[in-house]
Amino acid sequence: MLSLLKYLKPFWVGIIFVVILLLGQALAELYLPTLMSGIINEGIIYQAETGISRMEFIFYSGAEMLVFALLAGVFSIIVAYISPRIAAGAARDLRRDLFVKVESFSQTEFDKFSSASLITRCTNDVTQVQNLANIFARMLLYAPILATGGIIMALQRAPGLSWILGLMVVVLIGIVMVLVSIVMPKFQIIQEMTDRLTRVSREILHGLMVIRAFGTQSHERERFDASNVELRDLGLFVARMMAIVNPAMIFMMGFTQVLIIWVGAHNVAYSGLQVGDMMAFFQYSMQVLFSFMMISMVLVMVPRAQVSAERIAEVLNTELSIVDEDNPFGLVDAAVVQFRGVTFSYPNAEAPALENINFTAFPGQTTAIIGSTGSGKSTIANLLLRFYDVGEGEITVSGVDIRKLYQKELREKIGFIPQKGQLLSGTIASNIKYGNTELSDEEIKKVAEVAQAFDFIAEKEGGFAAKISQSGSNVSGGQRQRLSIARALAKNPDIIVFDDSFSALDFQTDAKLRRALKEHTENATVIVIAQRVGTIIGAEQIIVLEEGKIVGRGTHAELLKNCAEYFEIASSQGVE
Ligand code: ADP
Ligand code: MG
Repeated sequence: MLSLLKYLKPFWVGIIFVVILLLGQALAELYLPTLMSGIINEGIIYQAETGISRMEFIFYSGAEMLVFALLAGVFSIIVAYISPRIAAGAARDLRRDLFVKVESFSQTEFDKFSSASLITRCTNDVTQVQNLANIFARMLLYAPILATGGIIMALQRAPGLSWILGLMVVVLIGIVMVLVSIVMPKFQIIQEMTDRLTRVSREILHGLMVIRAFGTQSHERERFDASNVELRDLGLFVARMMAIVNPAMIFMMGFTQVLIIWVGAHNVAYSGLQVGDMMAFFQYSMQVLFSFMMISMVLVMVPRAQVSAERIAEVLNTELSIVDEDNPFGLVDAAVVQFRGVTFSYPNAEAPALENINFTAFPGQTTAIIGSTGSGKSTIANLLLRFYDVGEGEITVSGVDIRKLYQKELREKIGFIPQKGQLLSGTIASNIKYGNTELSDEEIKKVAEVAQAFDFIAEKEGGFAAKISQSGSNVSGGQRQRLSIARALAKNPDIIVFDDSFSALDFQTDAKLRRALKEHTENATVIVIAQRVGTIIGAEQIIVLEEGKIVGRGTHAELLKNCAEYFEIASSQGVE
């Protein structure tokens, strides 16, 4: 929580202003009962005893009371205006830093947090902290000032009644402590439960099609209900606890009032306590009581915000597993990609996903990687793009270890078509231009043609200006892949990596696409990851991967002869 305090720093002028205003408000409010006791003692009672009218004094003091009450009101309005602005401004900075941090995360960090949790942390958790910051200023700063002042003033007015105040404060602190000790831990659990509910609902919404297809709605509903009911029960418990507090406080208030008047009246009658002083004491006691109510209200909010603050700090303090070197090498043009003795395990995985991988991919050639699912093909792409860092060995581009390059420079060189074609919301044109905003309409058309996307784009309403909805859900899988290919080609990259990008295409489109690509990417280093032998049959070099190890390499014809694994794949697909 404390580490987030630095977000309040830019607003220090406003904060000092708020503190001064709160102090002013408290002082004005503390002065009111004193003025009132003056009116009662020196105005009304004096007149009753002596018959001499002191109307002027009463009016004067009354006017003074009005001014101070107004002043307190104005101060509190200004505070109510400024403090949410400070809290919202700090929250904006915090969200910005969080977002920048998350953007710099490598895949390792994403695996650690899960994107659902990262979203909650950037939104809901920040709001919790913001709410506290907002109320904190108004309540937790103001209430102690008022309470302390109230106690001091009350004791000065009527020292004989001080034991009542002492009793009240002890009971109040008792109530607040019991409340805090019971409710605080529950709030922590509530935040965790909210997390779980978010996770369950996200998962269910994400997999809705599967759930429908398998007819398991009722099972999923039960799972959701379980989380939901849990949260409700705990919420109810906390609400009930809080509901007890209010009547308890009101009872305390009534009891104290009666006690003050009862004891006070006796003191007035027998030991010379002035009526006005008794009334002042009465009001100061109420101020003290209200302060305690405010403090207890804020205190129950603290643990919730504390949990959120810790979750935020956890993200902000995450050490990046992949960082740029201070003085990275620059890259020369031709991009020879070389894997040298690369071994890699995913975080928390037992067996390595890749073991001792050695190969070189040359410009102007196609290097294909084939293997069954789970053999580590995508992992090779992940490592080349430096989504993860290698465990052992090194990957070089033009002879430079990629860990010695700027990540941005490395990725600028690579056109990557991920296994799952991912589009962003916008238009078809904005998606193709994503990696190269300077692309002319002519060039957009060209890459779309190469990617065999032009025909279906032309058929769409609006053509290149047709809308793409979030993550591209309004185009088919094959169309999404062809658009991803166009987007990668638009960057005019030196290295092109296709991760299983042809699997959603029919054979005919696959063949046409390969022919067009061959022409378009003459000088590029092309790495094609595939499962279909037909897709890679013409590659200069084919690497056969099995369980993270290379079990064969060569051309199609060579492999058919020397590599049993390749022969098996090929014959199972009817290619020979
Ligand atoms: P392919 O693309 O050949 O189907 P992958 O390279 O995706 O295979 O996966 C290789 C192995 O690594 C698999 O056993 C898979 O379970 C594991 N794996 C892939 N991604 C992760 C990850 N993010 N965390 C842990 N293990 C992973
Ligand atoms: Mg894969």
